Amino acid sequence: MDVIHLLPDNVANQIAAGEVIQRPASCLKELVENSLDAGAKNIQILIRDAGRTLLQVIDDGKGMSETDARMAFERHATSKIKDAHDLFSLHTMGFRGEALASIAAVAQVELLTRRDEDEMATFLEIEGSEVVRQELAHGAKGTSIKVKNLFFNVPARRRFLKTNTTELRNLITDFYRIALVYPQVHFLFVSDDEILFDLPESSTKQRIEAIFGKSLKKKNYAEQLVELKTDTSIVSIAGFIGKPEAATKSPQQYFFVNGRFMKHPYFHKAIMTAYTGMLPQDYMPSYFVYFSVQADSIDVNIHPTKTEIKFAEEQPIWQILQAAVRESLGKFNLVPSLDFNREGEVDIPVSSQYAVSRPVVSVNTDYNPFRRNNYTALKESINNWQQLYTPTAVPEQKQLAWEKTEVQAEDAALVKPTIAYQYKENYLLCPAEQGLVLIDKQRAYKAIFYEAVLTQIHNKQGVKQQVLFPEILDFTAEDTQTLLDVHEQLNAVGFEIDRVGTNSFSVNAVPALLDTSLASRALLNILRAVGNLTASVEDSWEQTIALSLASDMAQNCGKLLTENEVHTLLDKLFALKSHIYTPDGKKILCLINDADLCKQLQ
Ligand code: ADP
Ligand code: MG
Repeated sequence: MDVIHLLPDNVANQIAAGEVIQRPASCLKELVENSLDAGAKNIQILIRDAGRTLLQVIDDGKGMSETDARMAFERHATSKIKDAHDLFSLHTMGFRGEALASIAAVAQVELLTRRDEDEMATFLEIEGSEVVRQELAHGAKGTSIKVKNLFFNVPARRRFLKTNTTELRNLITDFYRIALVYPQVHFLFVSDDEILFDLPESSTKQRIEAIFGKSLKKKNYAEQLVELKTDTSIVSIAGFIGKPEAATKSPQQYFFVNGRFMKHPYFHKAIMTAYTGMLPQDYMPSYFVYFSVQADSIDVNIHPTKTEIKFAEEQPIWQILQAAVRESLGKFNLVPSLDFNREGEVDIPVSSQYAVSRPVVSVNTDYNPFRRNNYTALKESINNWQQLYTPTAVPEQKQLAWEKTEVQAEDAALVKPTIAYQYKENYLLCPAEQGLVLIDKQRAYKAIFYEAVLTQIHNKQGVKQQVLFPEILDFTAEDTQTLLDVHEQLNAVGFEIDRVGTNSFSVNAVPALLDTSLASRALLNILRAVGNLTASVEDSWEQTIALSLASDMAQNCGKLLTENEVHTLLDKLFALKSHIYTPDGKKILCLINDADLCKQLQ
């Protein structure tokens, strides 16, 4: 008996949907990109419950005919390319013809659309790929698509969604990536009846200001940026980069190529190299960099949810970018702009106590947390901690105790707090004998995961979770090489990766502690981190893998915890060899001592 048969369309669509539509944010991205491709000048986004119950995009674009409206929901139905040749001269965001079919497979969709030349609009209702209603209706020129109850028929996916806060954050992240490229389009973004963004048509700089100036409550955000501009035969680069003194620990960093958001760790490095010596450690500049290249010099045939883009001429562009950034920074330093606003600022009270001094720059280019002798690092951290934790006199032997052995030192200084309050999303606040201990949850998790992953690598006992629809990842030749080098270690931590082409791999299982939606990024982060190591000592590979993976595992750990989770976290944290610093040297906790607290009340 023959056993092979074709899957029914709705099942095939649902499987394809798993690739394209992973969460409300991916759905929003596809809808808004369609509106932009349709030439819309005004786009309204209305969502409810972070897109779970409703996600609606209304545009004033060119609309669809009655037949096209129906066709649009077929798989591989697109008006944007006709043959493979067109792939190399893309001028639209979409081209795969998969998005609407995928969305309609996993949600209840209502479409209302009218072209300028038609008198009547078309109304279409689709549920789980089935058209349930189609009729002529009244409607404005343009298109409105309502996506209701996303994943109503895929409970596994629905359960996969994070809290509303996280999903909304994802929606906003994807929205920024589009809004920053289309300043000429008016966007209105309403979430649960609250206007989150009303961005009028503007220049790119005004758009940046409109988005980040307000959200960061920083006046004159745009004034902290300098212009970047260069034109060469292989690339044009335009945009804005942050002045060194405006650098922060959580900068806004955006790359776009031909109107698409992309991540590009290699180009990121070009920018960071240009800033060498200008920034205090851990501080990074914001940047908004827009590349234009010939459409055929980048690989656009990428997965819709992937943000890495391959360039044919990566190395020359690296040089051009780095030089352009240096030039802009140089101009800014040499020709201080006459800033009339500054003169009016005399009314700001500046007491010597609060005067902000320029940070002293000291860059240790040799810094590598793994090269340091572990004992020295540990002792240093204990030293610092000791200063914080015991501001007043401590019995002589105790102070000496930590000099003797590592274990005794920790015993002497640190006691696991018994009470912990969750403060904001990411902190625990614990009363201690000398004051209040503030713990950064995410960093605590990172340190815990780091040790766990290292142990897994050594014992080869990482726990796997199988992936429902294995993703195929295409890497650069360098990344492929790195992957082959560390294949064994990746296996040990729970990745199951098969080579399916020269540079293509299928990821069949990922570490159990890792959010599967972050898996491909986590993998790439590992490859880049290992690839960046100068010495290929296997020992530091393991630490690098552990650090990179732990960072990604800790990604979604900022959320509110249950009481049990808090206690487990404290248990695990205080069982670590070092619970004061993360393995990459960031502080996990600090003490605000009683004396300082009391001062606040004086
Ligand atoms: P793609 O964008 O890759 O072509 P989609 O599934 O996203 O595939 O859309 C299918 C087709 O439906 C598009 O090619 C376009 O012709 C039409 N379409 C989708 N959304 C809109 C819209 N907002 N306005 C006009 N046409 C649209
Ligand atoms: Mg599309």
